[in-house]
Amino acid sequence: MRFAAARHWVFDMDGTLTVAVHDFAAIRRALEIPPEDDILHHLATLPAEQALAKRAWLLEHERTLALGARPAAGAVELVRTLCRRGCRLGLLTRNAHELALLTLAAIGLADCFAGVDIVGRDEAPPKPHPGGLLQLAAAWGVAPAELVMVGDYRNDLECARGAGAYAVLIRPTENPWPELTDWQVRDCFELLEQLCGE
Ligand SMILES: [Mg+2]
Repeated sequence: MRFAAARHWVFDMDGTLTVAVHDFAAIRRALEIPPEDDILHHLATLPAEQALAKRAWLLEHERTLALGARPAAGAVELVRTLCRRGCRLGLLTRNAHELALLTLAAIGLADCFAGVDIVGRDEAPPKPHPGGLLQLAAAWGVAPAELVMVGDYRNDLECARGAGAYAVLIRPTENPWPELTDWQVRDCFELLEQLCGE
């Protein structure tokens, strides 16, 4: 894949376009979720009333984080460049759609993503499930192999693999998941540099 020629880009949000602030261990403690459990999966197994209360708590907690979101190094420049080149841009997040909108506004990228291309935890099965990527590929009328998924965590890479898309890992330290990664960059600045220099 020549990444510089890619026209369809899907970004993870938290920790990829923003400086990571979620303390998932603290969230699990507050919601009485076992440390090894996936938060969204756990909530999905609870009785309706309990799930409703815990989802509401999570939404409010994440709303505070969204309002204070700061852009990750190079994220604004990278997304604006791809946007200017006319690339299709999607956002695939385990966060909620409405909080993705708040976050994008807080980091100054709200105008770069179409509302329907912002896929949150209520619009598709949460990553690592590949459903969200497949949904975007179908909506854009391209094969999943045309998509580049950019993320900072294993979930993003597994989602890309499952969908048959390319996986770019943003991580400044050693890659614990090399078998799932097509390309690793230190941050969005390096990705942008490489795309412009290729
Ligand atoms: Mg992330």
